[in-house]
Amino acid sequence: MCRHLAYLGPAVPLATVLIDPPHGLYRQSWAPRMQQHGTVNADGFGIGWYAPGDPVPARYRRSVPMWSDPSVLDLARVTSSPAVLAAVRCATTGTAGGEAAAAPFSSGPWLFSHNGAMDGWPQAADKLPVRAGDLLAMEALVDSAFLWAMVAERLRAGAAPGAALAATIEAVQAAGVTGRFNFLLADGHSIAATACGDSLWYRADSQSVTVASEPDDEDASWTPVPERHVLTATLSDLDIRPLPAGGSGPEGPGVIPPGSRVPPRGNTDATEGIPI
Ligand code: GLN
Repeated sequence: MCRHLAYLGPAVPLATVLIDPPHGLYRQSWAPRMQQHGTVNADGFGIGWYAPGDPVPARYRRSVPMWSDPSVLDLARVTSSPAVLAAVRCATTGTAGGEAAAAPFSSGPWLFSHNGAMDGWPQAADKLPVRAGDLLAMEALVDSAFLWAMVAERLRAGAAPGAALAATIEAVQAAGVTGRFNFLLADGHSIAATACGDSLWYRADSQSVTVASEPDDEDASWTPVPERHVLTATLSDLDIRPLPAGGSGPEGPGVIPPGSRVPPRGNTDATEGIPI
């Protein structure tokens, strides 16, 4: 399993989010604390971040372990952002290597990461409908890139972020494809994430929200997301609700049972949960 993290809040150096925390993503590349599949995340890494006023994120991805990259510490020290999504990779057997296979994957304003594996890759993909053009546009022959094509298709069709993630998992499982599907999606203003087979945590206050595979420090405010749930968050709201039951029910954006919404935070006067 890879480890991934997304941050929204005041602009801070990337190092504040990724490198400085005692158990941050940088350290998780060699010493994750909650990883159940794989031991180290040495098969590459990627950082995606948004610059204020520019809707399209920048990415820095490498095929080497994060700890061995001579440039990442300098880059993270001098680059600040209010919205970040990053991942360290432990490649699934049978998937491609290299920089292009490292999350985050991207399209327009979106950044996407997958922590998990599609069982039976690549043959299992036979059961899943993806348009030929989207297949040919895949950044790498990796289960995560394939799943990203499914998510992106739903986003392009107008699904809200959380609904696109949930509908993709529902479609995959309805087709009889098993695996672990912790997804993480960002657009610079919101984060959506699923807990489906591995750990997922969040920490939120009036200023910022962080969603991660595992806590990066001992702060008591880290909260686990229950298994088979989808989280959506902005700076003013955070919503957690169940994923549709595995393998049953109609597929489609928005087919999500009512969920529990964490009360709005900070100085917001929001009264509605963000649509997922
Ligand atoms: N299957 C994905 C990959 O190979 C994610 C791997 C993981 O979560 N360890 O990159």
